[in-house]
Amino acid sequence: MSQPDNQNVPTHPGEIDATQRLARRPWPTTRLNPKINVSFEFFPPATEAGLAGLSRCAEVLAPLAPSFVSVTYGAGGSTQERTKTAVASLIKTTGLPVAGHLTCAGATKEVVNEVIDHYAAGGVRHIVALRGDAPAGMADGAVDGGYADAAELVAAIRRRLERSPSANFEISVAAYPEVHPKAVSPMADMDNLKRKLDAGADRAITQFFFDTDVFLRFLDNARSAGITAPIVPGIMPVTNFKGISGFAKRCGTNVPPWMHELFGDLEDAPEMHQLVAATVAAEQCRRLAESGVSDFHFYTMNKPQLTAATCRILGVKPAPAAAGGSQPNMAEQGPAEQAHLPQERVS
Ligand SMILES: Cc1cc2nc3c(=O)[nH]c(=O)nc-3n(C[C@H](O)[C@H](O)[C@H](O)COP(=O)(O)OP(=O)(O)OC[C@H]3O[C@@H](n4cnc5c(N)ncnc54)[C@H](O)[C@@H]3O)c2cc1C
Repeated sequence: MSQPDNQNVPTHPGEIDATQRLARRPWPTTRLNPKINVSFEFFPPATEAGLAGLSRCAEVLAPLAPSFVSVTYGAGGSTQERTKTAVASLIKTTGLPVAGHLTCAGATKEVVNEVIDHYAAGGVRHIVALRGDAPAGMADGAVDGGYADAAELVAAIRRRLERSPSANFEISVAAYPEVHPKAVSPMADMDNLKRKLDAGADRAITQFFFDTDVFLRFLDNARSAGITAPIVPGIMPVTNFKGISGFAKRCGTNVPPWMHELFGDLEDAPEMHQLVAATVAAEQCRRLAESGVSDFHFYTMNKPQLTAATCRILGVKPAPAAAGGSQPNMAEQGPAEQAHLPQERVS
């Protein structure tokens, strides 16, 4: 039977035909940059069970060949030992480059230097250097004889490791597309970022954001301010909307109204929550990739499923030899697993 010639002709005013629709839609027909680099951030678990969970998480994500994985460091050194344990365990079990986070607020130089040396001796070749926020009850600033801010810390790491055999150290620092909540002004915040990079950092990783335009504008502003180092967007797949909204508030990250619309009533529908979250994170990454971004840092919350799904949509998946390993099972994640966010900084 012959096809009617008017098969794609719209039947309603304003409607576009299928060919036009496909031509307009950038996703999934747009070919992305074939070289996408991903990295994954974990937090140091408090218990043996949590450490086993981190191993499972790394087992799922390691086959995606991340550029590095990183482990956060509790405010004022509150997770120092746990961070060291998690870093050592990841180095041993994954063979991946592992970055240790390090904060300096509320700590003396001696304590901070000891951690730098410990990292270097244990095979760490990358530090995410941060000022950090002192824990409640502790003065929020440099203690006497401490490093004043992240820029000072970066300079100190560079000086300290210059003489060490592991001089090929990478340093990443934090950047804030929506401005750090305590910064005097956006310009002062940008100057501060430049100071950190000028002090010897190799790249900046951003605070998570949900408004993609905010990041793209920030990137333009940074380039205009003379910053040439890579600025890697921090991507937070929404594992738990309520928890992440509260966290966003503390970090100065805007949660746009459309996200409340999407997630607000999904608390009791974990599977749908996960599906929507994967779509949202994937769309954000696709838009960034279409704007030329090639590196993505994922805040995994030690839950690999959403991150792995998002990476897959970006075209990052296990190499065939590794594909037989653990595959994430979105349906596994029940409400109990989503119920809390870690106390310590997860990003
Ligand atoms: C990628 C990433 C990873 C992170 N990892 C961790 C982690 O592992 N552990 C952790 O505890 N936190 C972590 N954080 C959070 C970070 O420690 C906080 O945002 C902290 O407040 C600022 O750290 P910084 O290194 O950006 O500070 P800096 O670069 O020194 O300062 C950043 C900006 O904040 C302003 N500022 C900060 N504190 C004050 C203050 N008390 N008074 C006035 N102005 C201030 C500065 O003027 C500047 O504008 C991370 C953040 C990001 C984006």
